[in-house]
Amino acid sequence: MSARILVADDIEANRRVLQGKLEAHFHVVLEASNGLEAIEVARNERPEIILLDVMMPGINGYETCERLKADPATAHIPVVMVTALSDSEERVRGLEVGAEDFITKPVDDFQLNSRIEALRRYNMVAHELRQRQGRGGTALEFDDNETEDINRKVRILIMDEHPRRSRRLKTMLADAGHEVYSYLEAGGGAALSSTGVDVIILPLSDQSFDPLKICTHFRMTEMTRPISIIVASEPHETQLAARALAYGASDVIQMPIEPQELLARVRTQTKRTRYIEIMRKRLDRGVELSVIDQLTGLYNRRYMMSQLNQLMKRALIGGRSMSVIALDIDHFKQVNDTYGHGAGDSVLQQVAERLQANVRPIDIVCRPGGEEFVVILPDTEGDRAAAAAERVRRSVAGEPFVLPAGEQIDVTLSAGVALLAGMEDTPSVLLSRADKALYQAKNEGRNRVCSVAA
Ligand SMILES: [Mg+2]
Repeated sequence: MSARILVADDIEANRRVLQGKLEAHFHVVLEASNGLEAIEVARNERPEIILLDVMMPGINGYETCERLKADPATAHIPVVMVTALSDSEERVRGLEVGAEDFITKPVDDFQLNSRIEALRRYNMVAHELRQRQGRGGTALEFDDNETEDINRKVRILIMDEHPRRSRRLKTMLADAGHEVYSYLEAGGGAALSSTGVDVIILPLSDQSFDPLKICTHFRMTEMTRPISIIVASEPHETQLAARALAYGASDVIQMPIEPQELLARVRTQTKRTRYIEIMRKRLDRGVELSVIDQLTGLYNRRYMMSQLNQLMKRALIGGRSMSVIALDIDHFKQVNDTYGHGAGDSVLQQVAERLQANVRPIDIVCRPGGEEFVVILPDTEGDRAAAAAERVRRSVAGEPFVLPAGEQIDVTLSAGVALLAGMEDTPSVLLSRADKALYQAKNEGRNRVCSVAA
């Protein structure tokens, strides 16, 4: 699949070289001949990846990168610094101003395309999550909890069977304050599940196992998929490193490893995975928010109606029974009027707890609104549903409720039970039958269970 890639370089010949390499892999190339132009093209064209020359007249590559990262419209686009500088400090500077990666001139064809593939994989995940959040191309702003999550200590596993190299890596990372585990010391992969690793450092040479298999394995296993793998390669191992990237490594660092570069790459990888992790969490929470009543943690009306609909169909098709219980707290208004709404909320929460404690795990307990509750009981005949309702009634009436201010009050509820009758039943018909039974319970003096024959 082709990507739209912006190449920013002040020298036309350089742009032609990169263009040739990228087009050979069917990518679409956009061009800019200086930093300001690059920013403009990035804003207007929204490329998927930006290749940015460091040395340019006017604003240089670093400053261009900083401005791209500071602009919410372009902050999410990965930037690869293209540098002729072999000095590691200069390379690291690119990562420090927010670049996702760097490559050195003359640009190696294999490395270039492997890097682009790795970034595109990240892009796809991040893009999909942003889309599902309805955020389009804009950058995320994090709340305090999320910021804490992003900045939490990084856990790193060094998978290196070479004792001296392993020790050296460990020292570099531990000196920077990271929590470091070594494969050698931990006695193999068993340490993984227990430690919740963020990043793995995996040298490619001098290992008794196949590092490429490790990359594949980690990517194919659900639990380890979010872990970033940084492979360390010797200068002559570029092809192997490129294959590691193709098999699922997240990044490559060349040996001999400079501490600064290693730390910068760990930081970049961690930022990426945690960004994705936070977006995933937000999505999960979003799904939860839409079906859960925030006060009691029970299902809300929306979820109740959709479940009722599905379970009724299933019961009718399968020729099985199904019941619903409608419950309502007696004289709830008096609790609010006498003790305040905080006390009322507390009673609702405690009733929800007693309700859940007295039904089966397969039963669906909902709070459609106010002081009303509904329990959906799959595979349940009317008399067994009535027995469940009676159990709930007794557990509520049997023991006083303790309010937040310390007072104890007695609470009771009334319940109506209805059994699924047949094809002509709809969720609202079934519910209104349960409501009718509930009114009967109220009329007969409350604190009781009534059933309506179908
Ligand atoms: Mg230049």
